[in-house]
Amino acid sequence: MQFRKSEALFAEAQKYIPGGVNSPVRSFKAVGGTPPFIARGQGARVWDVDGNEYIDYLGSWGPLVLGHSHPAVIEALKKTAEHGTSFGAPVEQEVELAKMICGSLPSVEMVRLVNSGTEACMSAIRLARAFTGRDKIIKFAGCYHGHADGLLVKAGSGALTYGIPTSAGVPESYASETLVADYNDVGSVEKFFEANPGGIAAIIIEPVAGNMGVVPPAQGFLESLRKITQENGALLLFDEVITGFRVGPNGAQGLYGITPDITTMGKIIGGGLPVGAYGGSKDVMEMVAPLGPMYQAGTLSGNPLAVSAGIATLKELQKPGTFERLERLAQRLTDGLAKAFQKVEMPSTINRVGSMFTGFFNPGPVTGLAHAEASDTEMYGRYFHAMQERGVYIAPSQFEAGFVSTAHTEADIDATIDKASEALRKLR
Ligand SMILES: *Cc1c(COP(=O)(O)O)cnc(C)c1O
Repeated sequence: MQFRKSEALFAEAQKYIPGGVNSPVRSFKAVGGTPPFIARGQGARVWDVDGNEYIDYLGSWGPLVLGHSHPAVIEALKKTAEHGTSFGAPVEQEVELAKMICGSLPSVEMVRLVNSGTEACMSAIRLARAFTGRDKIIKFAGCYHGHADGLLVKAGSGALTYGIPTSAGVPESYASETLVADYNDVGSVEKFFEANPGGIAAIIIEPVAGNMGVVPPAQGFLESLRKITQENGALLLFDEVITGFRVGPNGAQGLYGITPDITTMGKIIGGGLPVGAYGGSKDVMEMVAPLGPMYQAGTLSGNPLAVSAGIATLKELQKPGTFERLERLAQRLTDGLAKAFQKVEMPSTINRVGSMFTGFFNPGPVTGLAHAEASDTEMYGRYFHAMQERGVYIAPSQFEAGFVSTAHTEADIDATIDKASEALRKLR
């Protein structure tokens, strides 16, 4: 496999864009090598500018649950584009997407559309503070909620991969409003409530963590958070930017039967275009301007193109059997990978919820950040390159999720397992 064109482009990119990338996780800094520049995607596959073909498990980091260039999404985009791209005025499609979201997520009665998951989480925190009149929030080490100042404290994803979980440039006064608890450890949360009576506005959590690699909530953990927030007059904020329309038709809140006060979304609801959203019960959402005193706005929010791609995606997902099929395919993949690891006696833990999964190079169990960080990241880097050479595209970091789409076939999955077995034998 050669990457001549990608190498030339990456060199050029580095002259004009910091690190040559517009999001740090794309840079391959953690695994080494040149990130291939992608020219095209179709179904479960992508091709780079040098003509190399890959089976894709990155799925644009989560949005592409239908795979690349899904005909329904492309058709919706073409049809919408012919009528214009943005008006800064209400459009019919916004109402349709909002209605679909409210109809799918049990806790969401009203929703505000924004342009990214970052914006959604930033706004949701502001809303929780406005509603409760309190300042402090609790987040969990290894969870990522976008790059807003107060949320870049012990953050996951690229911040974790590159060892800058708390970013430079975040004022100490902001960071001090963020209390960092341990995932799956109720005691670490109770401690903060005891120390800050009447001071905590909200707990924000990825109900299934995806940004330290996939870490599912332990039995009863989310229930405990629901209880402790209710007892203390704080809000429970589910960041479903990854899990919404990924782990099931009703998000993680439907899967685990928990009703959060505020939910943030992104990724899948934009079908590969920039969309985020935050929503909740009417009494909370009525705080948002122009109804209430909490200000939040956006020139391109509810953009007709982006919203059309989201609607087309959600409609496809509503077809009967879709989530069952995703579950079956993902289970087939992780079962096969587990066997491949066992065969070469490589210590591993594979975590999966629905069609999101991570194989940790770590005997496990992986139930929180400390465990995830104990993984053999050097081995992950070697595995990453061995898979790339064999035409499988996975996240260039141990601390990320892999995603199965409806475009993957059983043959793709089986071919991937064969390639993984081969790669692992080589690493042994
Ligand atoms: C990706 C992600 C975000 C941020 O979304 P962007 O669209 O990248 O700003 C927030 N929360 C979670 C859980 C995410 O995975």
